[in-house]
Amino acid sequence: MKNLEEVFHAKLVKIAYEHLKVSSIAIAVNAVLLAYILYPYVDNTILVIWLVLTVSVTMYRFFLAKRYHKDPTKMTAQQWEYKFLIALFFSSVLWTTIPIFFFVEGNYMVQAAVLIVYAGLAAGAVSSLASLKKAFRMFLLVLMVPIIIILFLQNTQVHFAMGLLVSLYLALVLVVGERFYGNYRSILESKMMYEEEKEKFSVSRERFEILFKSAPVGFFFYDQDFIIREVNQKFVEFLEAPKEFLIGLNLKQIPDQRIFPALQSAMDNINGMYEGEYKSQYKKKQMYVDLQTSPLRDTSGKVIGAIGIVNDITEKMHALKQIEHQAMYDTLTNIPNRLTLIERVERELIRFKRHNVIFAVLFLDLDHFKNINDSLGHAVGDSLLNEVASRLQSIVRSEDTVARIGGDEFVILLPDLSYDEKMAANKAERIALKIYTVFEEPFSILDHQLSISTSIGIALASNEDENADDILKHADIAMYQAKKEGRATSRFYQQQMDIWIKRRLELENGLRNSFYNNELQVYYQPIVEVQSGNIIGAEALLRWNSKEFGSVSPVEFIPVAEESGLIIQIGDFVMRKAFSQFVKWKQECKDTLKLEKIAINISVRQFSRVDFIANVKNAISMSKIEANNIEMEIVESIIIDDLVKAKEKMQELRSLGLHLSIDDFGTGYSSLSYLKQLPFTTLKIDRSFVQDIDVDEEDKELIETILNIAKRFNLQVVAEGVETLEQLRFLQEKECNLYQGFYCSPAVSAEEFMQLLEKQNPNC
Ligand code: C2E
Ligand code: CA
Ligand code: CA
Repeated sequence: MKNLEEVFHAKLVKIAYEHLKVSSIAIAVNAVLLAYILYPYVDNTILVIWLVLTVSVTMYRFFLAKRYHKDPTKMTAQQWEYKFLIALFFSSVLWTTIPIFFFVEGNYMVQAAVLIVYAGLAAGAVSSLASLKKAFRMFLLVLMVPIIIILFLQNTQVHFAMGLLVSLYLALVLVVGERFYGNYRSILESKMMYEEEKEKFSVSRERFEILFKSAPVGFFFYDQDFIIREVNQKFVEFLEAPKEFLIGLNLKQIPDQRIFPALQSAMDNINGMYEGEYKSQYKKKQMYVDLQTSPLRDTSGKVIGAIGIVNDITEKMHALKQIEHQAMYDTLTNIPNRLTLIERVERELIRFKRHNVIFAVLFLDLDHFKNINDSLGHAVGDSLLNEVASRLQSIVRSEDTVARIGGDEFVILLPDLSYDEKMAANKAERIALKIYTVFEEPFSILDHQLSISTSIGIALASNEDENADDILKHADIAMYQAKKEGRATSRFYQQQMDIWIKRRLELENGLRNSFYNNELQVYYQPIVEVQSGNIIGAEALLRWNSKEFGSVSPVEFIPVAEESGLIIQIGDFVMRKAFSQFVKWKQECKDTLKLEKIAINISVRQFSRVDFIANVKNAISMSKIEANNIEMEIVESIIIDDLVKAKEKMQELRSLGLHLSIDDFGTGYSSLSYLKQLPFTTLKIDRSFVQDIDVDEEDKELIETILNIAKRFNLQVVAEGVETLEQLRFLQEKECNLYQGFYCSPAVSAEEFMQLLEKQNPNC
């Protein structure tokens, strides 16, 4: 504050000195004029001395002013003021002697002249000295008080009145002086404030310009119409676009509009932000950006545009992603690691708790992997692990996870298996079987042909209190159990196994009795021509309506039948029933209907029996069916078991006239080129592919590919599980031959099937 006061004072002193030169000259002229007026009336000696002194003092003041202007910093403002006051004091004393020496004896004319000069001096002093309070007060008082006293002392009415008038005049000029002083101060204050602001503004503007030009982030201004008005160098560098291209660009029309909400936000007077991917317009550069926007307002607060601050965080994001990837994926095989696995298992647990969707965890440990590593070296071991990882990945669905959690330990997570525990267990076991087929083909690693097997432990999510670690531990325990029992096998976690074994035993007994109880029925699902919609055949599907267990799904009881050997009996039953039923339909339709195929499912156990062919021949002759109306559906695993023998048997069936189809095509491991060595006539695309046609582009492509290859190999194609018109349309478009599915009909009883045929042909 004191500082400010000093600055003020210096400025006020300056003003006083600015007036000094002119006022000195005016005073000198005044002095000469007064001397001229007084000369005839007063003592000339005194007058001359007065004039000389007055002019000298005035000249001194004049030169003082000159000195000040030459270099005001030579002395402090205080000192300059001091000198100023001293000189002024002398000047005022000299002027005040005028009435003392010349007033009394002078005549009225002289007195009037003196008073006029005094009035002029006083008025001049007010304007020229007002910036210094001390100066004008001193000058006026020294100048005028003596004359007032003298006037009052004259003791005449006129002088008394004049004394009063001069007193009033003195009071007036003093007041005016004060006002002048006040004005000076306030003018000075506002001027100083203005200058200070101006200074501040220019400093901040300068700083801002430096920041804008050289900041390490990109800046851009845009107006209310979203047109870019200004950009900085860094912004140009980020986008690799010329400045001329960027300025004038309409942000509403840039192709990547993901940043727009952030831009808009600033226009709505709220800071906006966007962090994420961005594709630049000019260079089509894929980048990650961090964008912040802030509104720009005019003095009334109205938003007139906005400023955007951009940072290119591409490298940072890539680095982050890489770190993330390293943390989540196994470095050797590039498949998920333990951490990712646990995370996904936990996610599935949440779904299990919420929706009861059962998932399974398969724990794989390669048998004797250590031997390979020790005898052939780590390079071979590593390549083998890589190959195992990729083969495992090739047999699972895209939603499944194959993870490597340690040396030769892999875990497969199978989400979404079923709501039913038995079903889920069955599916998990099916995958385990698939895994064995993966290991059946030897691995060629760096000139070595390696055969390796794996033991598999399976655990299902079955208890709501379990966590991810529990489930992994269960699968691990089951895997050890499998290893103990001779490797290359799979085991369920004991507790689950106990429940399951119990159920299996019950089912097995139930199945044995089902024959006597007449609980088994063969149902038929129509096989339909895709283009015409005509039913041309049926697939025989077994149904078990158990008194004890209710309706049991074939997915559950067929494996039980296979394991117990009951499938031989059951399969034979289905075959004979289906053949004779087919012949019956044909007769009922009096051959007017183009009913040309009855398809039956043949299980591995059935197929591999030595008396299988003989049995088939017997069933044919008993039913009098024509062999070329029969189609046997075989799953890939049959063939893989023993290719040579399978091929022989198949050729024999073909020579009898039977047709052979690959069932569930696409779910196994074998490639089509592998299968083409075998005499198949038909290929059945698994329903899982058909069902995803509407949602999954990849499945569409896959079906197209299968259809193309099938055409080349001269195979008929049946699409399974067609449920919607869209799916059918797609198959029509791609010229698939046949389909089955709920869209036409589920598997129905023989009588219901007949009704379906009648609907199609009233002659039946
Ligand atoms: P699969 O041979 O693939 O039979 C087709 C299955 O898909 C049947 O289930 C059928 O009902 C079902 N399906 C047909 N159309 C649709 C559809 O549009 N949507 C859906 N979601 N499903 C459809 P099912 O009858 O439960 O048979 C299951 C499996 O059991 C069969 O699969 C087959 O592998 C086996 N199986 C059934 N009967 C026999 C048999 O007599 N012998 C042998 N060995 N296996 C059989
Ligand atoms: Ca089938
Ligand atoms: Ca099938």
